Amino acid sequence: MTSAPGSAVPEPPVLDLARLTRRYGAFTAVDDVGLRLPAGARHAVIGPNGAGKTTLLNLIAGTDRPDHGTITLDGTDITRTPTAGRSRLGIARSFQQPSVIGELSVLDNIVLAGWPHHPKRRGAWRSPSRYRLHTASAASHLKTVGLADLAHRPAATLSHGQRRMLDLAAALAGRPRLLLLDEPAAGLTDDDIGRLLAILGALPPHVAVILVEHHVEVVAQVCSTVTVLAAGRTIATGPTREVLTRPEVRDAYHGTGSTAGPAAAPARG
Ligand code: ATP
Repeated sequence: MTSAPGSAVPEPPVLDLARLTRRYGAFTAVDDVGLRLPAGARHAVIGPNGAGKTTLLNLIAGTDRPDHGTITLDGTDITRTPTAGRSRLGIARSFQQPSVIGELSVLDNIVLAGWPHHPKRRGAWRSPSRYRLHTASAASHLKTVGLADLAHRPAATLSHGQRRMLDLAAALAGRPRLLLLDEPAAGLTDDDIGRLLAILGALPPHVAVILVEHHVEVVAQVCSTVTVLAAGRTIATGPTREVLTRPEVRDAYHGTGSTAGPAAAPARG
């Protein structure tokens, strides 16, 4: 669905993946995957270990290149656009392993992450006048993720859950149109997962999210639509509640040794 209600002119999707394929030698990690997302979509990509989920995020973010297929952002073909260019166009990402800079303060991590995206970004990022300009918006991102009180601590002193929140704040500092989240709930306590859900629920409505996540409860709460990958191929896509109950989706997890996924979701009535 890519047209606004009541509009005769269909809106272009914010993201359009067509026949995306990535091979490593004879092995195909992502196999002929297509996906169209409207602005503000909340879409999950799930699947058993090794299904190709992170590879798909890498292709969208530009840290890996497809052997075949196209990636279109807001109507522009970005298949060959470098990662930094995609970032400037509004693609931001959080990682399975949080990518914070331990020696910098929590606040400076966000100032640095937001610097290339700020309208007043000229000059060295730590020049005093420029730096002051950026700390205000960085502080607001820290407040969003519940780290405002830790702003001046070295990032290296944060707990795993706090690092994940900092990584998310760094992604938000990129003022994304499309936010790619790679297993943000991994290793979090129940309290941290509650905070994560609140943060994701409060994202600006125009920001599209692709969430790779093994926690089905998080997927079900955050995402209205889902794609299921298995061995690089799309085996199901559609409304989350409906897709999670399909037998072929639950079958995809059986025999993989995976303890997470729709096998843990409520069985069909
Ligand atoms: P997980 O849920 O365990 O994170 P995933 O669905 O994210 O898995 P990917 O990390 O995308 O899976 O990996 C898909 C497959 O591609 C795996 O079999 C992996 O070993 C393989 N793969 C990924 N990157 C490379 C690479 N650079 N070279 C060779 N094989 C790779």
